[in-house]
Amino acid sequence: MPESRVLICPDQTRTFPGHTLSGHFFVTCISRNQMKSLLIILTLVIFLPSGQEEVRNTRARSQMVKSQIVARGISDPATLRAMERVPRHLFVPVALAGSAYSDQPLPIGYNQTISQPFIVAYMTELSKPAKGKKALEIGTGSGYQAAVLAEIVDTVYTVEIVPELAREAASRLKILGYGNIVARYGDGYKGWPEHSPFDIILVTAAADHIPGPLKEQLAEGGRLVMPVGNPATVQELIVLTKRKGRITEQRLEPVRFVPLKRLK
Ligand code: SAH
Repeated sequence: MPESRVLICPDQTRTFPGHTLSGHFFVTCISRNQMKSLLIILTLVIFLPSGQEEVRNTRARSQMVKSQIVARGISDPATLRAMERVPRHLFVPVALAGSAYSDQPLPIGYNQTISQPFIVAYMTELSKPAKGKKALEIGTGSGYQAAVLAEIVDTVYTVEIVPELAREAASRLKILGYGNIVARYGDGYKGWPEHSPFDIILVTAAADHIPGPLKEQLAEGGRLVMPVGNPATVQELIVLTKRKGRITEQRLEPVRFVPLKRLK
């Protein structure tokens, strides 16, 4: 079977036989205009489906913010803007991307979960994020909560105890361009003293008490948000505020998080 080659020839379209040392081939001559049309069609065939996919995801995200987050009382404009911007579908396993904007937590492997979108927004709003602030997150997981915070504050430090999740999240955040997130593997119970004090500390795993080192690493005027209670069942969302060195505690909604583990 002779092979076929395409040449651009000004103002004509024809096919004629040619040959090389290795055999015969057909040369198809097409005009410059035909080549342009061909390139446009190719570009559309390659890029249109991914463009449509992006439009679908952006719509789903807007709908998520309206129906799950604004409708339940979250009103901080910075938090809402961050939830609109972070592509949650890129933080869940590929097989679950279609459920990324649904009203539920999702498994991310290693027996861990990415929190329900509303909980992420609620904890973000409670932490009172703003430009100029420095945040610490314990429990990087997928990196989603860190990304939401990083849309608002100056720098986010985040610690994850499962090495594989720590590695995956760090590379995902880098690819997505979050240059203001510093992620590391380790036991977050101890916080990250080298970078303390923090204006915001978010703990996204549950324990029956608030780790002492985290209270110490909270800045003056800072806020710590954490689920506290029975790690195996239900906890309460707690907000600690430090003013003039004194800590006050506020108890909020019942929540359910995975347990805060300790490195042996
Ligand atoms: N914030 C995450 C979800 C948190 S799930 C997200 O947005 O996807 C809770 C995470 O805390 C899990 O990944 C779990 O491995 C991690 N974790 C549990 N104990 C920890 C500890 N002592 N230090 C750091 N991370 C911990």
